[in-house]
Parts: sequence; structure tokens; C-alpha cells
Amino acid sequence: MNALAATNRNFRHAARILGLDSKLERSLLIPFREIKVECSIPKDDGSLATYVGFRVQHDNARGPMKGGIRYHPEVDPDEVNALAQLMTWKTAVADIPYGGAKGGIGCNPKDLSMSELERLTRVFTQKIHDLIGVHTDVPAPDMGTNPQTMAWILDEYSKFHGHSPAIVTGKPIDLGGSLGRDAATGRGCVFATEALLAEYGKSINNLTFAIQGFGNVGSWAARLIHERGGKVVAVSDITGAVKNPNGINIPELLAHKDGTGSLKGFHGGDDMNPSELLVHECDVLIPCALGGVLNRDNATDVKAKFIIEAANHPTDPEADEILSKKGVVILPDIYANSGGVTVSYFEWVQNIQGFMWDEEKVNAELWKYMTRGFDNIKDMCKTHDCSLRMGAFTLGVNRVARATILRGWEA
Ligand code: GLU
Repeated sequence: MNALAATNRNFRHAARILGLDSKLERSLLIPFREIKVECSIPKDDGSLATYVGFRVQHDNARGPMKGGIRYHPEVDPDEVNALAQLMTWKTAVADIPYGGAKGGIGCNPKDLSMSELERLTRVFTQKIHDLIGVHTDVPAPDMGTNPQTMAWILDEYSKFHGHSPAIVTGKPIDLGGSLGRDAATGRGCVFATEALLAEYGKSINNLTFAIQGFGNVGSWAARLIHERGGKVVAVSDITGAVKNPNGINIPELLAHKDGTGSLKGFHGGDDMNPSELLVHECDVLIPCALGGVLNRDNATDVKAKFIIEAANHPTDPEADEILSKKGVVILPDIYANSGGVTVSYFEWVQNIQGFMWDEEKVNAELWKYMTRGFDNIKDMCKTHDCSLRMGAFTLGVNRVARATILRGWEA
């Protein structure tokens, strides 16, 4: 099942639980606007390359649409659509005053030079600048993009609209980025994990963790779990995988990856096949990479008792069912990885106020939002006697539905 079908299915399930009017259901499902643009750039060798860029603006009932821009070879309209919809529910679960959007360009950023990436980002921005805006749609980094990408968007957008730091979040600090934004998704994910484990009378320092993905989210999650005394027994990314039943020294692994560009050959553990990561022996599994990685082919073999969805839609509906039957507790993506967009909101607020917060304040506020989010989801689970995923979906969908009804139906 592709990402869009899976997301729609979860939404419809939540709509049924909430008893949503079928006309409202249809209106919430269909995106506000879908943008598809041609992005042609000269490559460094003088040849012409054409890429396709997307921005799906899913819903704005609760505020400006918000979501990342992804550079990845597998970016396609359905996936961007699904991710945009997930952002609508995610911002509502976090209770930040935003709707949802997502963008992407079908490309492999690793095959492009810095100047090619800059040209591509600027052309994409030229094509969408009149459809995004500080109070309309605010992009951010996602897979394959980073603060530098946001700096180019900010610069290109500002040529048309004047200096507008709040047009993107996840910017470099020197351009108005927020302290703590870089670590925010990983940190939020760890706060979420702590809230979940506390429900089961457990804590990070006496559990083992397997982490798929060692980019921004995975490496920050690993570092913070390691700091809290948790044993990270396996880590993987596209360069390889490493395991150590006694716990990997994460700062040393980070230094190894910085130095060699790969997870392979790390002296503090044994190399393993990255495909074994998801079924590795551990208490808590944290997928921090692509969607759909947990499916009917591997779900039965998962050993973890808890899954924290740091990636977007890592568990497809078939795996969801298999894992739930096995008693595995899954903390859903629209809550577990909402720390990134929550600190994006803090960044936007700081830009609009023209006042910078210190990192302690950012992290303390993030903790409050993540803890409150978990409590709100738990209440929905109690009310509707449902899984954490449906608790999160019903919470998000209900908030968006209420805002939509309050705004009225007239065109
Ligand atoms: N790309 C991140 C996400 O999927 C962050 C989005 C944002 O900060 O707007 O949640």
C-alpha cells in the first residue's frame, strides 16, 4: 500500500471513530492546493537538467500551512500528498497554530554539486514564491535538505518580497534560525519516548535501543538516549550498520562517521547487514529514515516491544496490524516526530517578534509541548478505546474539523 493510501486509510478510520460528517470528511481529505513545477538548471558541465518540484498545501483551517521540502529520488506526487496530510494532523496534535503542507524535488542531492543544489533551490523558489508566504505556507528542511537550503530559499524569496526571515524555518542561526532547531526532532522524539515509557513504569536508562538512520534525527536521538544512559545496541544508515550488545559509544560513532563518512569499520562494535536492523534484538526500535520500512515482510520478526516512529509513516497498515497483534506498542509519527515542527513554530514566533530565545527556553517549551501532546493522546485513547495511532489521529482530525466548522462553510 503506498503512503497516500495508508494515510487516507488512517484518516478515514479516525473520521469513523469521531463520527465525522461525510461531506466534512471529503473536504478534509482533499488538499487545498497541489503545485507541480518544472525546474530546469544548467549543470556544472554546461548540460541542461530538468527536475520536477512539488508543493502540496493540504489544509489551512488552523493557520498557515507548514511542512518540509524533501530532495530525494523517490519523491512523487502521492508521497508528497500523504506527507502534507500528515503535517496537518501533526501540527494539530502538537496544538501549534498551523495547517499542513509538504514539498519535494525528485532528485538525488548526493549527485548534485553545491552550486547545482543552489541553482535548483533558487529555481524552485522562483516557481512557488507567490504561493508560499509567512502567513500562508512556511517551508522547512526535510530529507535531503538542510539549513543551507533554507538560506537559499530565504534569499530568493526576499528578492521578490523583501527581507522575510519567517518565510522558512530550520534556517542557519545567523539568518534568524532558532537555537535548538537542529536537534529538535531527535530531542522531541526522546521526550516522547520518555513520556511513553513512564506509562509502562520504564525509563531509557535500563532499556536497549536499535536506531535506523543516523542523519539529523537518528544521530540526535542516539546521542540523547546515550546521554540518558540508554544502551544503543544497533545503528544503521545507507553507508552500513554497526551493533554492540553492550551498547555503542555514540559520541565515538559520530566522530567515526564524521571522519570516514561511513558507519562501516567502527572499532567500538561489529559491522552488520543494515537489513537486519529492524529485526535486531532490542527493547525499543526507532526508525528514523524512509517511510514504509516496516511491512508484512518483516513485521513478524520484529523483536522490539516499543516502536517510536521518528520517520514519517515508517509502518505500513499491514505491519501495524501484525505488530499490534504481537502486543508491540507503536508511538505514531504524527506525535513522535513533531518536535521538529514544534521548534519550527518557536523559530517563526521568534522571527515575528524579532526576539531570540535562549536554548534552555526552547528545550523547556519543547518538553512542555511533547508532554502535553502525549497526555492529550492518552485521553483520546481512553475516550475511544483505541491504539495510540488512532488516539493521535482522532486528536488531530478533531481539532482540524472543529476549526473548519467554526470558520463556516461559505465560499
Ligand atoms: N520536515 C519536518 C517534518 O516532517 C519538519 C517540518 C517543519 O518544521 O515545518 O515534520
